[in-house]
Amino acid sequence: MCQDRIVKSFTRSRLVSSSLFSLYEKVCAGERITEQDAITLFRSDDLNSLGQIASVIRQRKNGNRATYILNRYINYSNICVLSCQFCAFGARKRDPHAFEMAISEIENATAESLRGGITEVHMVGGLHPTLPGEWYIELLETLRALDPNLHIKAFTAIEIRHLAERIFKISIRDTLEMLRRAGLNSLTGGGAEIFDPVVRDRICRGKETAEEWKDVHRIWHGMGQRSTCTMLFGHIETIEQRVDHLRQLRELQDETHGFTGFVPFAFVPETTELSHIRPASAVDQLRTLAVSRIYLDNFDHLTGYWIAMTLPLAQVSLCYGVDDLHGTLKEERIFHMAGSKTPQEQTVETLERTIREAGYEPMQRDSYYRPIGGDAVDPSETVLAS
Ligand code: SF4
Repeated sequence: MCQDRIVKSFTRSRLVSSSLFSLYEKVCAGERITEQDAITLFRSDDLNSLGQIASVIRQRKNGNRATYILNRYINYSNICVLSCQFCAFGARKRDPHAFEMAISEIENATAESLRGGITEVHMVGGLHPTLPGEWYIELLETLRALDPNLHIKAFTAIEIRHLAERIFKISIRDTLEMLRRAGLNSLTGGGAEIFDPVVRDRICRGKETAEEWKDVHRIWHGMGQRSTCTMLFGHIETIEQRVDHLRQLRELQDETHGFTGFVPFAFVPETTELSHIRPASAVDQLRTLAVSRIYLDNFDHLTGYWIAMTLPLAQVSLCYGVDDLHGTLKEERIFHMAGSKTPQEQTVETLERTIREAGYEPMQRDSYYRPIGGDAVDPSETVLAS
């Protein structure tokens, strides 16, 4: 076993190019890389070396395991007071593609998926101008009544801010407390986009600032709760702005330790106002995942979001730092309304086969990335010597 580790470590070190070798050694020594290091990695065209370096951290934190969750997406409404330029999902009430689900429809959809074995329902919507506060409370209580163990992951930070300021007209903390009492288990990571204010002004004018986004998560984490976080890349941002986004997430994680995982995804421009933008290449997506894995040393999990990147590329991403392939989903609308051609759901069999083919051990997880069933793998058993 020991010999095997040494051989693997030696093999890996020989696969890292000389220009990135000092960063490889830094990562192997457990040292944190700087923003300038991250920019150097982003500017490297040696994708294989990036994968090797990211795999050091991936193996250290998660061993040979790759996880997925049985979940269901529900977009309760796309009616929204904002018009983010990158978004093909949001609509005004009068628009022909505007929709609004009744609580009974959401209840039925969730009940059907519970019978199929889901452990989590994931709900986000637009910033609806007129749905009353009681509607959200009733929605959460209805789903909670279906199953006390169902994990309800819902609302982006901007939805929380909208609910607090325009609907409930109370503080963020009181809003979160009320939603938590009604059944909310964790917040989704959406709405972060790219934190830089110049970028935000051009792709989502009027949306909350980085500080406002972080503040919602900071308060939620301070209440002992968890959330995920995201980055929407591959539009107008620079490499420096991507790294700045990662820096802000790493700093907040140092402060609260409340993020369970990071979910970066590439912009799908097809039916948006920004349709002239060329989509991020496969290489750019893999590079971004690998650098994220290396830079975010205080995050345990990195998700390859197959909805945006396709399942074949998500499979490859397992060798670039990713240890999680998200979930079964059932019905994704946000990326599909933007033109994504990926399926709207995956079966457990497909996700497990995808993981095995890449050489990893599939493991169903819960919303906190803890293993469900099977033999839990202790990452320390498979960590590579550095
Ligand atoms: S991204 Fe969210 S806030 Fe912006 S328009 Fe779309 S639904 Fe509304």
